[in-house]
Amino acid sequence: MIEMQGVYKTYPNGVTALNGLDVTIDQGEFVYVVGPSGAGKSTFTKLIYREEKPTTGTVLINDINTSTMKQRRIPKLRRQIGVVYQDFRLLPTLTVYENVAFALEVIEEHPQNIRRRVMDVLDQVRLKNKARFLPDELSGGEQQRVSIARAIVNHPKVVIADEPTGNLDPDTSWEIMHILDEINSGGTTVLMATHSQEIVNTIRRRVIAIEDGMLVRDQSNGEYGYEY
Ligand code: ADP
Ligand code: ADP
Repeated sequence: MIEMQGVYKTYPNGVTALNGLDVTIDQGEFVYVVGPSGAGKSTFTKLIYREEKPTTGTVLINDINTSTMKQRRIPKLRRQIGVVYQDFRLLPTLTVYENVAFALEVIEEHPQNIRRRVMDVLDQVRLKNKARFLPDELSGGEQQRVSIARAIVNHPKVVIADEPTGNLDPDTSWEIMHILDEINSGGTTVLMATHSQEIVNTIRRRVIAIEDGMLVRDQSNGEYGYEY
């Protein structure tokens, strides 16, 4: 469902972030993306939700080529992909409920469905009792759970999590992992960029290691690590 062939990405400033990447990820997989800072992990994930296009090579998402697809089809592509960031990126003046509902309002979901869907997904991340709270009244782990709720409320096929536990303590990180694992069990593909050796080595899944813009290791039930 995610297929990259011969992908190179050079940014306008001349930095080459990806240097010939070939990878295929099937629906329902859980994949860790590891590698040092600056290796190209974020660029790799941005190609998937088409925040960036490859300079050369092809990126196919469900057989749609992101380089040649029509501009007006991009929102439809992005609706199939939920994104979770290290720094949560919640809207500070909106409540937990409103932050999640907003994701449905922008896609013009029928108002009658919004309440049920938001409460279902807050239940899934175990935050129903905090629906009326503002983000800064929550702990970091709770804020990340809101951000996960927002990412999955559209029932995307893929969730991309870019260092989702990077700002969290170990206990809270395990909580987040547990939730991502549950989402994956429901059939959603999960791609998680991470620097957590402990998580990767404990919850064993496919590991893709990227270094200097190249895929240096691709291992099922893999372990943490890269050369430098
Ligand atoms: P990682 O996520 O592994 O830290 P990135 O994909 O963010 O790696 O970055 C890979 C390389 O591309 C780095 O050298 C980074 O500075 C550069 N880079 C990333 N985004 C941009 C951008 N928008 N413009 C120019 N250079 C960028
Ligand atoms: P952490 O363990 O991440 O440090 P906190 O101590 O920040 O967590 O929060 C513990 C609990 O207290 C959380 O459930 C959070 O929702 C609640 N809480 C924290 N700050 C506030 C606040 N300003 N108003 C209401 N509840 C709060």
